[in-house]
Amino acid sequence: MVYFEKTAEAPASLAREKRKGENGSYREEDVISLLDKDFCGKCYICETKRPTGINIEHFIPHRNNIDLMFDWKNLFLSCPHCNNAKEMLTRKQDCTDGFLNCTVAEDRVDECISYRIEVDSRMISTVRIATAEESTESTRTRRIRNTVDLLNEVYNGTTPIKTLEARNIRTLLLDEMEKFQHLLKDYKTTSGKAHEETSEKLKEALRKNTPYTAFKRWKIKDCSIEF
Ligand SMILES: [Zn+2]
Repeated sequence: MVYFEKTAEAPASLAREKRKGENGSYREEDVISLLDKDFCGKCYICETKRPTGINIEHFIPHRNNIDLMFDWKNLFLSCPHCNNAKEMLTRKQDCTDGFLNCTVAEDRVDECISYRIEVDSRMISTVRIATAEESTESTRTRRIRNTVDLLNEVYNGTTPIKTLEARNIRTLLLDEMEKFQHLLKDYKTTSGKAHEETSEKLKEALRKNTPYTAFKRWKIKDCSIEF
């Protein structure tokens, strides 16, 4: 999960559709295309780029509250797997304090949580999401913990179907990390012009519009490389 700056002005259809109440739609073309642009075509939770399934997710569940249903700030782009995982988690445990908001810079979603993937000797991969900040503020601590729990479930699965979906995400994640590892190796072993070119490629690979950016940023931290 990484920070995305959302366009401040809401798409025009939201106000128009809101007037229709429960018969209105928050899935009009202008909403979809602006969410796709603002979230760089990625699910904001798992960071899969261009997922085949797309949901408009209400960050705070609307539960038929018309204001929350059509509030632009409350609309996020997610894949069905993550949207469903968040809903399941909120049913399973008390998430009253909510989750970290990746469109709020102060929430620092890719700094207060660590993102790592491990592969054991049997080639079984596991994602390890953990708290990377000791907060003195209890509400923030709970929001971090809820987000950590959500991300662990998203990447590792819970039910048989979600476990299979999570494995598919980890396959894409491992592909991306393998390409990134090659870049890192080149960065460490080259010099002169080749090193400069690799450095540029690394910067590109760490941009928020790339898949699984948070994992790559943590890999850089773990290698103690500064840009
Ligand atoms: Zn997702």
